[in-house]
Amino acid sequence: MTDARPRPMRRLHAMMFRLPLMITCEAFEDFILAYLEGDLTTRQKFMFEMHLKLCRECRDYLKAYKAALDLAKASGAEENALPEEVPEDLVAAVMAARKG
Ligand SMILES: [Zn+2]
Repeated sequence: MTDARPRPMRRLHAMMFRLPLMITCEAFEDFILAYLEGDLTTRQKFMFEMHLKLCRECRDYLKAYKAALDLAKASGAEENALPEEVPEDLVAAVMAARKG
């Protein structure tokens, strides 16, 4: 009857990853943008934050993602300040390509 030996930590660990609320790293990635924009439901946010606590890799990933997003926003703001001639040229180029 060696199987009856209690292994609390092992059992807890196995249980944790069998919980329906436990999401994979892939699912975590899918949630990141919605999380940063506050679009997650309470349940999704809970799952997201639980994964964040358990997974160091995803913590680092989120950090890098945030930094990249901030950078993109900063450069995007500068692009919006450019003269409006640029889009017109683009439209003309697209129209020409469609006709040809
Ligand atoms: Zn992860």
